[in-house]
Amino acid sequence: MSSRPCPFCGEKIKKAAIFCRFCRHELPSAASGKKNHLGLISALTATAIIVSGSAFLISEFLKERRHWIDE
Ligand SMILES: [Zn+2]
Repeated sequence: MSSRPCPFCGEKIKKAAIFCRFCRHELPSAASGKKNHLGLISALTATAIIVSGSAFLISEFLKERRHWIDE
């Protein structure tokens, strides 16, 4: 049977438990943790798109500028 330590009291509890049977704290569910993880991934993806987009624009700008200098 899969178990994990309670983040509040450290006692071993069922992985699927929604509250700790020792300290009665509510536990963050696995589903909400997964949702947060997906949110982090989409935030990182958005950042990567913005960074690569800016890098592309800068490289295009530098190419154009080199073109002006040549002429
Ligand atoms: Zn606990």
